[in-house]
Parts: sequence; C-alpha cells; structure tokens
Amino acid sequence: MANVKKKLWENNGTISATDGIRASSLNFEKGQRTRHQQKGNGFGSKTKTEPHRQSLNDSLEGDVRAFLIDEETLHTYDDLTKVNPVTPTTVLKCLQARYRVKVFYTHAGCTLVALNPFQPIPHLYSLDVMKEYHFAPQPQEFKPHIFIVAEEAYRNVQGQVEPTDQSLVVSGESGAGKTWTSRCLMKYYATVAASSSSPKCQDTIERIEKRVLDSNPIMEAFGNACTLRNNNSSRFGKYIQLQLNRSQLLVGASVQTYLLEKTRVACQAANERNFHIFYQMMKGATEEQRQEWRMPRDQLFAWLPNADKSLEEDCFKETTDAMKNLGITKEKQGQIFQVLAGLLHLGNVSFCPPTDESQPCNLEEQSKDFLQCTADLLQISEEQLLACLRLRTLRAGKQSVLLKPCSMAECSMRRDCLAKVIYAQVFDWLVTFINRSICADKSSWCNFIGILDVYGFECFTLNNLEQLCINYANEKLQQHFVAHYLKAQQEEYVSEGLKWSFIKYQDNQSCLDLIEGNPTSVFSLLNEECRLNRASDARQFRTRLEKELSNNACMSWDKFSKQPHFTVSHYAGRVSYQIEGMMEKNKDPVPPELIHMLQASHDPLLQGLFAGQNTEESSGRGHSKVVTVVSKFKNSLDSLMKILHSTTPHYTRCIKPNPECRPLTFKKEEVIVQLEACGIVETINISAAGFPIRIPYLSFLQRYGMITNSRICKQSINENGLEPDKNILGPAVADVLDVVLRSHSLDPSKPSETDSCSSLVHCGKTKVFLTHSMLELLEGCRDRV
Ligand code: ATP
Ligand code: MG
Repeated sequence: MANVKKKLWENNGTISATDGIRASSLNFEKGQRTRHQQKGNGFGSKTKTEPHRQSLNDSLEGDVRAFLIDEETLHTYDDLTKVNPVTPTTVLKCLQARYRVKVFYTHAGCTLVALNPFQPIPHLYSLDVMKEYHFAPQPQEFKPHIFIVAEEAYRNVQGQVEPTDQSLVVSGESGAGKTWTSRCLMKYYATVAASSSSPKCQDTIERIEKRVLDSNPIMEAFGNACTLRNNNSSRFGKYIQLQLNRSQLLVGASVQTYLLEKTRVACQAANERNFHIFYQMMKGATEEQRQEWRMPRDQLFAWLPNADKSLEEDCFKETTDAMKNLGITKEKQGQIFQVLAGLLHLGNVSFCPPTDESQPCNLEEQSKDFLQCTADLLQISEEQLLACLRLRTLRAGKQSVLLKPCSMAECSMRRDCLAKVIYAQVFDWLVTFINRSICADKSSWCNFIGILDVYGFECFTLNNLEQLCINYANEKLQQHFVAHYLKAQQEEYVSEGLKWSFIKYQDNQSCLDLIEGNPTSVFSLLNEECRLNRASDARQFRTRLEKELSNNACMSWDKFSKQPHFTVSHYAGRVSYQIEGMMEKNKDPVPPELIHMLQASHDPLLQGLFAGQNTEESSGRGHSKVVTVVSKFKNSLDSLMKILHSTTPHYTRCIKPNPECRPLTFKKEEVIVQLEACGIVETINISAAGFPIRIPYLSFLQRYGMITNSRICKQSINENGLEPDKNILGPAVADVLDVVLRSHSLDPSKPSETDSCSSLVHCGKTKVFLTHSMLELLEGCRDRV
C-alpha cells in the first residue's frame, strides 16, 4: 500500500514524497509559495511513525487540541505555522527549543526567523553549504536557512513568465543580525552568480563580485560604531541592489543609504564610541601618517571615547585595501583621513567665558594647538576658523554685515555642526564613489535583487526626531508586509468564496496618517513650525499637535508629564517622543559662514564637497526653501517603497536572543517582545489560524478519493485525463469530507455554517482549504483504507 501511495504522489507531478514526510508538509499546489507547505527532510518534520500521531484517535476531542505539541519534539518544527496550537507561547517555546539544539533558522509562513547565535558557526555558511542549496532541485526541502531565501529570490528573478526583481527585507532590532545576514546574502550571490570575467579584465581591475563585497568594510568603517547594544552597530540604513544580467550573473550593484547618525561624530553617549574609522586610524596609522595627522599614539581626543576597548581598530588595513580595490587612490585616501584627523583635533577645541560679555568667548589655553592643527589639516585659515566658531554673522540689509559674539553653548554647537556637516559629506562622497565603482551600465543588466538592511523599531527612555523617523520607516515596511502577504492571503479566501473574515490583522494606516498624512500630520505640523521659523517653542508645537491631531486614535499624551511630548501607538508598541529640540533637529541648520569657510579651503576634497552648496538653504534662513530632515527622509523612503512595491519581497526577521550579546543564551521575555514588534505573531496567526493548506478539488480527490471509493469520485477523477466536470468535483469532495468527519464523530455541517476559526476545513470555489489538523485526519483515514 505504501508503495502505491508513493506512486500516486509522484504521478501527481507536484510532489515526490518519501516515507517519513509529514503529510501536511506536502506541496499540493503549483505556483503557491512553497514555504507554506514546507516539505521537511526528516530534520524538522514530524514523521508518520512518531508517537504523537499514533495517539491521535485516542485523544481526539473534536478540535485541534488533539494535536497539542509535544515539548520534546518541539525543536523539530521547521515552520512556526505548523506548531499546534499556534500561540505566542508555543512559538516562543519552539524557537527556544531549536536554539537550544543550535538550530538558528525557522520559517514562519513566508517569513524566515533568524536567531542570532552570537558565536561563529562556520560550517553553516561554508561554500559547500552554499552549493548544496544552490544546486538542490528543491532547496525548500532543506533545513530552514538564509540560503533558501537567497536561492528562492535568485530563481524568482528568472521568472517563468517574465523576470521579476526581488527584494530581501532584513529587519530586527539593534544587534539582531541584520548586517550580518545582509553580508551573508551578498556573499551568496557573489558566489553563485559570479560573473566569469576574462583573465585580462582581472589584471586591470578587481572582479565585480569582490568590489561589491569590498563596499561592506568601507561602509561599515565609516557608518558603524560600537553602541551599548551592538559592538558593530550600523548607524545608517542601507538598500543595495545587486544587478544581474540576462544570464543571471552579477554584473554590478548600487547602494542607497538612509539617515546617517551624523551627530555621533561630535557626541557619543556614555560607554558608546565614535564611528569605527577614527579608531582604525588611531591604531592602524603608520608613523609617517601619525606625524602627518598630528596623532601621536598617546594623544587623547575628546571625540574618541573608550579608545582602550580593543574592537575594530585592527581593521584599518582591511578598510584601506577595500578602498584601493574600489579605486580610491592613495592620494584621495590621504585627503579623506587628513580631514577626519582634523575633526578629531576640532573635538578638543573648547571655549571659556569672556571677561567682558560684549566680547567673544575665549579659547581655552590647551585648545590653541588643537585649533591650529584643525586649521592646518582642513587647510583653512586659523583666524577664519576661530571667527566662524565664536561669531555669528548677521545681515542688515543687502550690504552691511554685523558680527555678533556667540554664547559658550552656541560656540560648541557651531564646532559640532562643522564636524557633522563635514563627516556627512565625506560619507556621501564615499557612497557616490562606491556607486560609481560598482554600478553597471544600465544596458548590461536587466534585473536586480535588492537587500534592505534598516534599523529596527526603536523605543528608548527618551526618543526624539531620529526615533520618529526610524519608527516611521518601520511602519512603512510593516504596511508593505501587510499589503503583500497578509492581504494577499485573505484575498484568496475571499476570491474562493470563504465568506467570513476570521483573521484580524492590525492595519497601521491610521498610524501612518498620523505621522505623514495630508493635510495635517505630525510631519506637516513640524515642517510648518520650522518654516515659520519663530523662536522654537516646544509648547506651541505641542498645543498644535493636540488641537489638530487628537482625533487620531494613535495619538495620546501623558497629562501628568512635565516634558512636552506626544505618544504614538505604533504597530510594535507605544513610543513617547520628546518635543524639546525636535524642531531644531528638523531644520538641522548650518551657519552659512561655516560653508563659506569650507568653500575657501585649499584642501581639494573639501573644495569638491562644498563647491556649489547653497548657503541660504543650509542655514534655514531662506524660509520656504528649507528642506527639512523629515521631508528629505520621507522623499527617500517614498522612492524606496516604490522600488519595493515593484519587486517580489522576501522577509527575514532577525531576533536578538539576549541583550548582552552572549553566545547561545535565550531570554524568553526579550524574544517575545521582538516577535511582537516585527509582526511575527501576526504572520503566524494569519498563516495558522486560517487554512494554511489549499488543495485543488482534483488533486484532493486523487489523493483522498479512495476513502469513499464511490462511483462519483471515480467519475470525477476521470482517469483518462479528460477535463473533469467541475459540477461533480465539489459534491465528491464533500462526500469524502463527510465520511472523514463523521468517522471522528465530528459534525460535517460545521465547517460551512460556523464562523469559528477552529473549523477544520472549508470548501472554496475551486479548492479545499484545510487546517493541518484536518489534513492529519484525512491522512489517518487514508492510511486505514
Ligand atoms: P544594528 O541595527 O545595530 O546595526 P544588526 O542587526 O545589524 O544591528 P549585526 O551587526 O548584524 O546586527 O549583528 C550583531 C553581531 O551579532 C555581529 O557582529 C555578530 O557578532 C553576531 N551575529 C549576527 N548574526 C550572526 C550569525 N548568523 N552567526 C554568528 N554571529 C552572528
Ligand atoms: Mg547593522
């Protein structure tokens, strides 16, 4: 009998079952996302001979309780939607059990959950493993792995009807493993899609795969830093498009970055550090460079805190090698590092109050050398630098100019602003250069796979504009996720005539309306306040928010709080944002005199970076011309979303199992919060609370018709391969279901009459929709025939 069944499966065309494969994991429907019907290889799937299955009939009580999970086998579930019952607790237990046995990847419907091992697992990512997944006829049959996602996207690009661009969205909180995963994906494509450039080409220029990979150490050196939550935390968002030609070979790439945390260059929280590159320079410079940059080994820099921690500093050579490979000449590199050294010296410049208040602040005695070094390294005039830092230029009419001494706080702000504006420009310059070096000519590629590595949802004790932007980006991505997956799922139920709506997913549109909507939203009011340019009054802004947005259910206030703030109910939780300082951050003004000074620099890099910059715009004085931080961010996010919408998405949710980044330590309370924040619980619910298995009528009868063996079934299967009569398929299916349900003392009328989501089966227009439990019942009956 077993052989006959096996044959039947094979004839079905869509599946090739082997004994020991869980029935529910078989792929019934061509073209459906295979992960929903994940086929196990014995690793993560329950086998027919396992005890839980034998006890089925004994414990059957007419609902899914019969399938309650056995904790001992929990680690074998490779798809969270198959855990029964699916609740946040069982899902959590399953992940924990898997983590305990060092299994780090688990599917959750169409999403891959990646738990961070916090220790190297080399065998998991070796070349051999890459090949295994790449050459497998059905990689989905293998253990869950990031390479399944990579390979699925790679195969999708070819597309059976027409090629489609793909995007891999990697999300998770800081330290969860997004950048690590993105790197892993890039390495996979650089290996499996390596272009076969001719030896001649290799002589002159590094192969494109190498150059694409080399963009990582550069961007991480300049854009990552050690924070309390991650020693290698990305302080910017990144979307990289890997460009593939008609033969599916990697021919180039382009990078887009978002919202670099430039404040870090001049201000690091306690126990955090500046961007890696500064430490790399400090540790890796040659004696000659040290002299050039005036950086003796024992020099202390205020903007280089925690330099004693030995982290990334040994990577200077790796960074400069990568820069070289991408074509950044030694000379250009020298200019970049000289400017960065100048910034370190600038950080040691501080002021003291003047004796006469009408005079500008005085330089601290020990700051004099640092000021001079800064001026030398940035190749600007020392006097002009001092003047720019402590005198504000006021224009009275078209001609006359007044110089007004700045307060101590203003002097420090100007110093920090100078560092921030230079660093941000250097970073942008690098990104542009990288793009020029790795981007293929439009005519040579036809499709892309995009990898998105963005900061996850953030909620700190104090949150400001940065968190608002980050959480807004996460809301957008969540909406995209909902649109592409959850809605698509539900739409299929509706198109199949399932009349009840049993899935309740949280639509975050009202939260997005609150933040970015028209005509009135937090962003629009914030921009308006900034445009009006009145003395920043946090209270005034708050009053407007309260008056104009209080009818949005996602907005609230803590009436007793002394700090002006507002609270937004995000899909991932409530976050209170401080209003103080928000407008200033949004305007992000740069005094025009600083820009003029940089434009007059003799340093070719600085000249290039600031030539043509409109000082009116950067100062925020030009009223309507001001392009605020939120406007810029919204625009870049809008273009990203447009790209994402034009692609087939694949989601990977990285989870940080413990906040201390300790190897193999799983803290349930930390994980559950993340599962909720990244929408996994919702994904699981929709995949599992509904009917995750869908079988077209004909396939159903081919498999289960034998249970009734009735004439009607035989007739409908139509052995001669003729198109079966649709009108008799439905009744034949109902016939089978009737027999199976009655044999378990279940009421066959239940599925079509109830709204309950615990229903086991429902007949759509062309397919049978089943729960895993119902499938088990069917398989059981079939086994007994
Ligand atoms: P952030 O938002 O702060 O940039 P992130 O999500 O990008 O955080 P990563 O920098 O990718 O986090 O990961 C943090 C650390 O976790 C890595 O430096 C690495 O040590 C470890 N790690 C992550 N994923 C893996 C993995 N699959 N195997 C081994 N170690 C890993
Ligand atoms: Mg990162």
